[in-house]
Amino acid sequence: MKPRWLHLLAIAALTLSACSDPPPQVHKAKLFTLGTLVDVSVLHPDEAVAQQAVDIVEAELAVINTQWHAWRESPLTNINQQLARGETITIDATSHRFLQQAQQLAANSDQFFNPAIGSLVALWGFHSDDRPEGAPPTIADINHLLQQAPSMADITLTETTLSSHNPAVQLDFGAFAKGYAIDRAIERLKQSGIENAIVNAGGDLRAIGSKNKQPWRIGIRHPAAAGVIASVETHDDESVFTSGNYERFFDFDGKRYHHIIDPRSGYPATGTISVTVIHNNAATADAAATALFIAGVKQWPQIAQQMGIDEVMLIDEHLTIYMTAKMARRIQLEIDDAEIKIIGDNR
Ligand code: ADP
Ligand code: MG
Repeated sequence: MKPRWLHLLAIAALTLSACSDPPPQVHKAKLFTLGTLVDVSVLHPDEAVAQQAVDIVEAELAVINTQWHAWRESPLTNINQQLARGETITIDATSHRFLQQAQQLAANSDQFFNPAIGSLVALWGFHSDDRPEGAPPTIADINHLLQQAPSMADITLTETTLSSHNPAVQLDFGAFAKGYAIDRAIERLKQSGIENAIVNAGGDLRAIGSKNKQPWRIGIRHPAAAGVIASVETHDDESVFTSGNYERFFDFDGKRYHHIIDPRSGYPATGTISVTVIHNNAATADAAATALFIAGVKQWPQIAQQMGIDEVMLIDEHLTIYMTAKMARRIQLEIDDAEIKIIGDNR
């Protein structure tokens, strides 16, 4: 027979587990904004608080979508018209912060991340809610824009004004605004006391805290097949951003033209098919994923270093996987026949 104390202990344990609250459920919501489906996951014992958190995220993302939309009429399209006329534009403190961060990231990336090439992106047909159709633009039209060499270095920013000495500058923050918006949303969530959440915009995300003491687990899409190519667990507060040639593209005459434009050639960047970056700041991760995609196999380690990024996975057109050592230490590949090259030692 079991000793009586063991019996009592079992009852005590049962009672304890019955009294303690169950771990909070993940409260999930789907929003459509920033040109993509956004999944928000929030953990909070109070459903109402969790729902309020989702509303905060929705409001924050909507503000940035409206402000910086590159083709629907927006404050940004007004700015672009004024830049083309050589005017000086009055800006508020929030816009200043946004533009300054983008300009700094562009400089750090050697202008591979170049949000001043809006005219090129439009010429390729990507300023539309729909997939572009028909032939790619002519070489003459591309060269005409290239010769004017618009870049963020042409822009002069003060606390209250924006101007460009190059009238070919047309701003397009498609490679940055999503990250910036996610940063803002997460900051607002933290301010309102949320400690565990993910804001995931079509696979680009920032995750804070954990899921009932288990790290959030993130799948990274295979760039050339169905399913995931790798997964990673996030800790504390991290952003995971991927730029891929499969996100937006059109096919013409058997060739694929995607939406990440190499500012040197004016054509979609070649050689890379996807880049994943992990960094604490989502806006930086967003800009860096785009810049490293264009920098390609030869130049990405240098540009990553300049941008302060030490966790990178780049997949080239032959499906060779390049990684920093730091990324290799934490990422789990979900395929087993890949050629893997680890670049650098202590990065
Ligand atoms: P996604 O938004 O699909 O995650 P990216 O972050 O790489 O992909 O952003 C691609 C978008 O960025 C394009 O649709 C275009 O609006 C813009 N863009 C294209 N080429 C560049 C570039 N070289 N620098 C900055 N922005 C770019
Ligand atoms: Mg990007």
